[in-house]
Amino acid sequence: MESFPQTPRSRLRRRPQRGHYDAATVYRVLDAAVIAHVGYVIDGQPFVTPTAFWRETDVLYWHGSAASRMLRTQAERIPVSLTVTHLDGFVLARSGFNHSLCYRSVMAFGEASPVEDPAEKRRVLDAFVERLFPGRTRDIRQSTGQELKATSVMSMRIEEAAAKIRDGGVHDDEEDYALPCWAGVIPVTMRVGRVRPDDRVIAGTPIPAGLAPYEPGAPLDDVLAETARRGY
Ligand SMILES: Cc1cc2nc3c(=O)[nH]c(=O)nc-3n(C[C@H](O)[C@H](O)[C@H](O)COP(=O)(O)OP(=O)(O)OC[C@H]3O[C@@H](n4cnc5c(N)ncnc54)[C@H](O)[C@@H]3O)c2cc1C
Repeated sequence: MESFPQTPRSRLRRRPQRGHYDAATVYRVLDAAVIAHVGYVIDGQPFVTPTAFWRETDVLYWHGSAASRMLRTQAERIPVSLTVTHLDGFVLARSGFNHSLCYRSVMAFGEASPVEDPAEKRRVLDAFVERLFPGRTRDIRQSTGQELKATSVMSMRIEEAAAKIRDGGVHDDEEDYALPCWAGVIPVTMRVGRVRPDDRVIAGTPIPAGLAPYEPGAPLDDVLAETARRGY
């Protein structure tokens, strides 16, 4: 799919110029994230649950304990929406009204559907691990059948999605530029820290080559772009 349809559900009304419906932009924002918020309704009560997620083509996946209320409910193939947000900066204007944030976000809609076939479940879970840590599924112990059973994997084919991106600088009212007031942008970036080996790693075990993108101080966006590029 090159572009997602714009419908009354997904078309941006506020600041529509910040909207993007092309799959490339939507996927770029999604793939720069590890965490999403999944929204769903149980008996009229809306819930929004933070969860790790991953993407393959136009399908989004998330997982958890088979006992999870969220996943047990979604297994009934209910409508869900998944959002991702990146904070890229604080925008300090010359009035409170014009203060803003730089951000990239996506809101995607679809129907939840459980991944039931054990082989497919294993494959998509491996893809999740490999997306973050290339080569890792070759190093670690394979999941047992019991572990797979205890894990639910949910999928959602994206029916509609919009990305909304606010970048650039300060937008003040013309008369406010005469004020003796500092204005500008404070950029914000999420970076990875220095690795901390577990105390019980067997002496002499090297850090896997697949973790090379996790350079201390590297922006997470760059790390994830590199791990995705390496694939598996
Ligand atoms: C960054 C992040 C990543 C996560 N990744 C995963 C994942 O990949 N898989 C996974 O299964 N879970 C993940 N979780 C935990 C997830 O948010 C839920 O707590 C979990 O899925 C259990 O869902 P449930 O519907 O069974 O919760 P229940 O325990 O049934 O929820 C009962 C109530 O507990 C409260 N509650 C539940 N979860 C949270 C929460 N996270 N924060 C605050 N209050 C809460 C709410 O009031 C909720 O109504 C993650 C959480 C965070 C913050």
